[in-house]
Amino acid sequence: METITSVEAMRSRSRELRAAGKTIALVPTMGFLHDGHSELIRRARKACDAVITSVFVNPMQFAPNEDFRKYPRDIERDSARAAEAGCDILFVPDAGAMYPNGYATYIEIEGIARVLEGKFRPTHFRGVATVVAKLFMITHPTIAFFGQKDAQQCVVVKRLVADLNLDVRIEVVPTVREKDGLAMSSRNIYLSPAERSDALVLSRSLRKVEELVRAGERNTERIRKAMLAILTAPASVTVDYAAVVGAETLEPLGELKSGDTALIAIAARVGSTRLIDNTLITIRD
Ligand code: AMP
Repeated sequence: METITSVEAMRSRSRELRAAGKTIALVPTMGFLHDGHSELIRRARKACDAVITSVFVNPMQFAPNEDFRKYPRDIERDSARAAEAGCDILFVPDAGAMYPNGYATYIEIEGIARVLEGKFRPTHFRGVATVVAKLFMITHPTIAFFGQKDAQQCVVVKRLVADLNLDVRIEVVPTVREKDGLAMSSRNIYLSPAERSDALVLSRSLRKVEELVRAGERNTERIRKAMLAILTAPASVTVDYAAVVGAETLEPLGELKSGDTALIAIAARVGSTRLIDNTLITIRD
């Protein structure tokens, strides 16, 4: 596996691959790779001739009060994990390369980027959309892989690609979980053992919703109440939102009806660690 740090070197390497008729997969990450990231890389490996994984903790998507500085980093371990999952090129630019002096261009997405995460992290998706667009321009991927774990990010990136006519296909990979249900996340490392156990209420409440819907529940207020009862049981957990929204519109749903695909999305702080999780439910009756 090669490691490239310069934007120019990455651009010319991608240009070469394209000129040689190769398809390129891009897996954008912020590093501290876990098995969720590895799964994206493995899918990319199967789909394309060349696999690029980017590792960049993007300062633009963190607010000043967030965890940019303490976000976990371990490039040696990332390098080994990425290679093992089948990555060909690890792209590791630094912030100065991505945002040199004088940098002044930002991508704002309205509507879908203003709700859920956007309410609690108002500048987050502008950072995400901007860096993703830049990574696409630099690596010129045929397919880019994103995780369902960040459901709203997937919706936002698809909107970005459609609205700006970007020539890339977006593939969404299902959430990879620990054996006990906790969605894998680089931020799980922040959790104390007691918080790690309390954090299971996120996945547990999603499984509860699936069970309720299977049993015929269609009322989203009752569904939300049932989730909140589980989520708020441990004293360490503060819920930012527990929402039942249209999977594409991200607008709140009333009564669920046949043909609806609902995104059940949760953000909660466990101690001082903010976690998100979600599930998709399609109503077929
Ligand atoms: P991050 O490094 O957290 O920005 O994540 C990089 C990519 O990996 C994003 O597309 C995430 O949605 C995806 N990802 C993170 N955690 C998981 C997971 N547990 N399962 C699947 N994909 C994930």
